[in-house]
Amino acid sequence: MKIYEQTELDFKDVLVKPKRSYINSRSEVDVIREYKFKWCPRRISGTGIIVSNMATVGTFDIAKHMIKNKMFCCLHKHYSVNDLAEFISQNDCRDYVFLSMGLRQEDYEKIEQILTQYPDKCRNVCIDVPNAYIPRVKELVMKMREKFPDILLMVGNAVTAELVEDLILSGADIVKCGIGSGSACITRRVTGVGRPQLSTIFECADVAHGVGGMICSDGGVVYIGDICKAFGAGADMVMMGGFYAGCPEATGDIITKKYKTNQIDEDGNAIIEEKHFKVFYGMSSEYAQNKHYCGMPTYRASEGRVVEIPLKESIDKLNQDILGGLRSYMTYIGARRLKDVSKCTTFYRVNTQLNTVFEK
Ligand code: 5GP
Repeated sequence: MKIYEQTELDFKDVLVKPKRSYINSRSEVDVIREYKFKWCPRRISGTGIIVSNMATVGTFDIAKHMIKNKMFCCLHKHYSVNDLAEFISQNDCRDYVFLSMGLRQEDYEKIEQILTQYPDKCRNVCIDVPNAYIPRVKELVMKMREKFPDILLMVGNAVTAELVEDLILSGADIVKCGIGSGSACITRRVTGVGRPQLSTIFECADVAHGVGGMICSDGGVVYIGDICKAFGAGADMVMMGGFYAGCPEATGDIITKKYKTNQIDEDGNAIIEEKHFKVFYGMSSEYAQNKHYCGMPTYRASEGRVVEIPLKESIDKLNQDILGGLRSYMTYIGARRLKDVSKCTTFYRVNTQLNTVFEK
């Protein structure tokens, strides 16, 4: 038995030190960077915000909104070849949309068909397996790189240096990092496995950059400040699911619930307030297995949950808030370019990050 004594950190365990800078206004910073990859010869200019390939958010609708801002969207695995073909023929997907695949043969055949039949439409692929430590993941990375040398290939999920390095050297451009930090995830409860997200980013980004690769921090964003901290710690991209799931554009009906308030109207009746929600579920939840596959295999336990998320404003407003927060962060730390954010970031370790006295 071994134990690592050093305390591992999450977003909530740190705040960022403000620094004197020559930037006078947030309008002077550039949140778009140029991405150059280890294997994929294409260059992409964008903001490294990416929507997760979860069923309610990794959708065509959400993708269209992300593309407008030069942000990314990873489409979920449940679209048919025809759906994908139609979407990529009509939209500018080449740089900002990732197709997702797991380890199933039918996933491979679907992606192969799209990449072969539409060679200039969509060349970004994400191999998404909750546990990338199993050997078949590396084998698939090697196979994809050999078969499609020019694709932008992301693979996950990992949380340690050795696997990140191995996957990049095997053909991945970007490794998706994070285990157990997702908002709809219960892996840590069910298996005890996981790693705090900030320490994951520190270690994985360092090794990825050392061998010419990149990382995408996946999961655990609660506040816009967490996106800034993820970039600050070295992430090249930041993936979110739950953060977008409350937007009206996410899939799913709006649920309205009525609550009695403490106030009364003129007739002495309690004033009823309405609140609106969207349903969001983990992709390894029993709910997802029943909805998208033929139910939960008996050898598996559910590793995700179903939650109702308060309805947010539109996705465009959310993206504007994210970019506004990021610009402000860059102004505080004196980083003119997104690429410079991590070298301009110094963290304080804190016991408390927020004053919540007036929060319910
Ligand atoms: P969020 O932004 O909601 O905190 O995290 C999104 C990430 O959670 C996804 O990109 C994915 O990696 C992870 N995730 C999604 N569904 C599940 C699930 O059912 N179980 C686990 N363990 N992780 C999930």
